[in-house]
Amino acid sequence: MSENAGRPIPIATAVTEPYWEGCRRGQLLLQRCTACGSSQFYPRTLCSSCGADTLEWVPASGAGEVAAYTVVRRAITPAFAERVPYVVAIVRLAEGPQLMSHIVDCEPEAVRVGAGVQVGFEDLDGEASLPVFRLTN
Ligand SMILES: [Zn+2]
Repeated sequence: MSENAGRPIPIATAVTEPYWEGCRRGQLLLQRCTACGSSQFYPRTLCSSCGADTLEWVPASGAGEVAAYTVVRRAITPAFAERVPYVVAIVRLAEGPQLMSHIVDCEPEAVRVGAGVQVGFEDLDGEASLPVFRLTN
């Protein structure tokens, strides 16, 4: 059985499809407003800063830092049982937006607020890819 068996698979909408396509290609995409220049995550139809509908998709650097985190020691569903303990974090991207993700391939005790991270992608049995982050220092 796959280690991903039973994990929820993201369902793309018309607004989020470019984002999920980027993840499948190993590219983290953000929306950038061509009117005011601000970047945003999660995907929306309007700019959260100025309300314009002139949003374009741009690749993020994938670099960021841990803004907050918690260590999950009891899986909330059997699909995550093999992963405990694991780190769920709010990552602040270099471009400004924040997203919730996992910090992987490290001991949970190594994670600190302010630690540098870089994006990677976790394949969900070919059905989708999710951004995850690894410590860089
Ligand atoms: Zn704007």
